[in-house]
Amino acid sequence: MVADGDRYLTSRLRGFGETIFAEMSALAERTGAINLGQGFPDTDGPIEVAEAAIAAIRAGHNQYPPGLGIASLREAIAAHQQRFYDLTFDPDLEVLVTTGATEAIAATLLALCDDGDEVVTFEPYYDSYAACIAMAGATRRVVTLRPPDYGFDAEALRAAVSDKTRLLLLNSPHNPTGKVFDRDELALIAALCVEHDVIAVTDEVYEHLVFDGEHVPLASYPGMRDRTVTISSAGKTFSFTGWKIGWVCASPVLTGAVRMVKQYLTYATGAPFQHAVAAGLLLSDDYYSAFAEDLRNKRDVLCAGLREVGFEVYEPAGTYFVTTDIRPFGEDDGAAFCRSLPERCGVVAVPNVVFYDDADAGRSLVRFAFCKRLEVLDEAVSRLKALTS
Ligand code: PMP
Ligand code: GLN
Repeated sequence: MVADGDRYLTSRLRGFGETIFAEMSALAERTGAINLGQGFPDTDGPIEVAEAAIAAIRAGHNQYPPGLGIASLREAIAAHQQRFYDLTFDPDLEVLVTTGATEAIAATLLALCDDGDEVVTFEPYYDSYAACIAMAGATRRVVTLRPPDYGFDAEALRAAVSDKTRLLLLNSPHNPTGKVFDRDELALIAALCVEHDVIAVTDEVYEHLVFDGEHVPLASYPGMRDRTVTISSAGKTFSFTGWKIGWVCASPVLTGAVRMVKQYLTYATGAPFQHAVAAGLLLSDDYYSAFAEDLRNKRDVLCAGLREVGFEVYEPAGTYFVTTDIRPFGEDDGAAFCRSLPERCGVVAVPNVVFYDDADAGRSLVRFAFCKRLEVLDEAVSRLKALTS
């Protein structure tokens, strides 16, 4: 448990508190429960990528790398955008390496928002969005995604976007719901950005974890190439979440603005891991499809198990999270449920309510991560059966 620092904290962040992921991981550690809370795999990514990191350290890539990121990684990121999406970025002017997607999000919001600007995003939202919008002095306007399909009301989105809107922040595939925004939804979002001269920021960290439908970058829509800051990261795609290598692809002026902030936040990002991720991005298509297949199987196993236990399960089209509803157990307080779950069942999960402004919309929803070995998922399901016995 982190000491309550609110007394000394800037008013912009007061009340945000400890992240749910830190809180729930600490709970898992304290109780020895199976951690299906924070999203990290329990096996390492490709050995050749790990070997590339070790080789980079041995080769002496241990001092500050260039602030933009090493050339071979920027080239590999540009080649990845070309290979998967037919999007062309100049690796010298339009690609920036960051310390995870987390830094990319923070630097982008700090670079592009002035006090009082509005940022439109969907709820539930990834927790760092709210905090970074607040740190930037901006205000969030949220549009609610509603189960079972996590669609949104187009009129509500139209109403949220106005002349005060500076940015639209989109996460697809979406954490925590697993929603993958479809072409019609993306076309509407793109049209609104163009109409209101809004810059889009897209968080695509789960771009290679799509099981149903397809991932289409917003930057590929008409008028969006030069008004989108596309963000992704190696953590999820290569199962090395602790390496914290992320990136931004955007027009030269947008990349330049984000880089201005990045240089004062971290200046540069972990040199040896950049070499390793450059090697990872060049892996064959087979790697990417086998990775998605493995997670699809895990999704199917955990969703079936949770249904059998009695949860209402909203099957995710992407990511490695599944959102459930606990009301079939006669309970509706997801936060209380998650805090007592280690003791009741020896399992940790995350209450979705922390990702909502409209607490009623998220109250009974609970997220489980399925990026774990099959035997761990099986054991978690068998422990959860205690809920109904
Ligand atoms: N965005 C979303 C939607 C996430 O789930 C995460 C967690 N990986 C991040 C950003 C942060 O990514 P990174 O670990 O690369 O900082
Ligand atoms: N993205 C991870 C999740 O959603 C958490 C990363 C973090 O702890 N900040 O579970």
